[in-house]
This record gives sequence, structure tokens and C-alpha cells, in this order.
Amino acid sequence: MSVPDRSQAISAVETLLSYIEGEQADREGLLSTPNRVIDSWEEIFSGYKQDPEKVLDSTFNGEGYDGIVLLRDVEFHSTCEHHLQPFKGRAHIAYIPTDRIVGISKLARIVDLHARRLQNQERITKGIADDLEQFLNPLGAAVIIEAAHGCMQCRGVMKQNSIMTTSAMRGVFFEKSEARTELMQLIRSAPLSR
Ligand code: ZN
Repeated sequence: MSVPDRSQAISAVETLLSYIEGEQADREGLLSTPNRVIDSWEEIFSGYKQDPEKVLDSTFNGEGYDGIVLLRDVEFHSTCEHHLQPFKGRAHIAYIPTDRIVGISKLARIVDLHARRLQNQERITKGIADDLEQFLNPLGAAVIIEAAHGCMQCRGVMKQNSIMTTSAMRGVFFEKSEARTELMQLIRSAPLSR
């Protein structure tokens, strides 16, 4: 399928607005809406332009550190590929380094790389774990994601408070229940005062 240009994308949104029965697509409040929708798409779908290898390329000597590195409560916002509805939540990302550790902000950026695409939660979870495994070569990698889905909240079954949890466990986190137990204790431990 050929890629439409920006003006074609804007007119497609205009068509969708005029499909809403009873709405006036040419009223003042909606005049710039198609433009703004496409602008917002640049942001919410910016993950396609990012390369995980480049995001995870700044690593440092771990100086023998061989424990769990956990970044928890990484908030993210994504778009469900089935309904184009937002879903949002938080990710907990962990790995056990072999010899290299990665800059901590890079772990947050790898979440956004996957979240800012048309997605399902399972694919984000697996994608982050795959990238950690491939580019950090850790002893183990773990990703746990909890999210609330707009397509469940505002349409269909209309469930406001249901949270979906997904996890991907690799290496020692997959093989050793002790590693998983320690990880879960770290995730559940009392947060620092905020
Ligand atoms: Zn959906």
C-alpha cells in the first residue's frame, strides 16, 4: 500500500469526523482537529523511527556488580492496534548484568520505543525483553507490565478498573524461582517517599 502524504492523512480524518452522525465537521472547534490529530500521531507513533540497538548502546563497566538492576514504575502510554484506543500503565524492567551495565534512562527509553507504536500489551512486553537479551547480553532479563485499556473502559464491556498484567522472563529469571522471588520482592517493596 502506498504511503499517503500529510494532506491526504488530514483529509482522511476530516472524512472520519463527518461520519459522526449529527456532528458538524466544519464547525469552529473542529476546524484544526484533523491537523492536530496528525500532529499527535507524529508523537504517539514515533517509536517506529527509533532503533533499539542505538537506544541501548551506551553501556558502562559494571565493575563486578552481579545483582538485579530494576527500574520499576516506568509509566507509558500506548495505542491499541485493534481499536486505536489508548492504553496506559507502568512497566517494571530488570536485568542481571554480565559485565556491562546500561544507562538507566535507556531502560525508560526502550519502553517508549515499543509503546509509541500500534500495539498490544503482550508484544510490548516481549519486545522489551527481546531487546534487553539481544543488546545487553544479561544473565537474565525480566519485564512486567500492568496496564488499563481504553477499549475496555469506554466501550464494549466497560470495565473501568481492570488491569492487565503481562510478563516475560528470560535467562535466570526464567530458570530460577529464587531469582523471580527476589525480583517480585523488589517490585513490591515500599516505595521511597515521593
Ligand atoms: Zn483494543
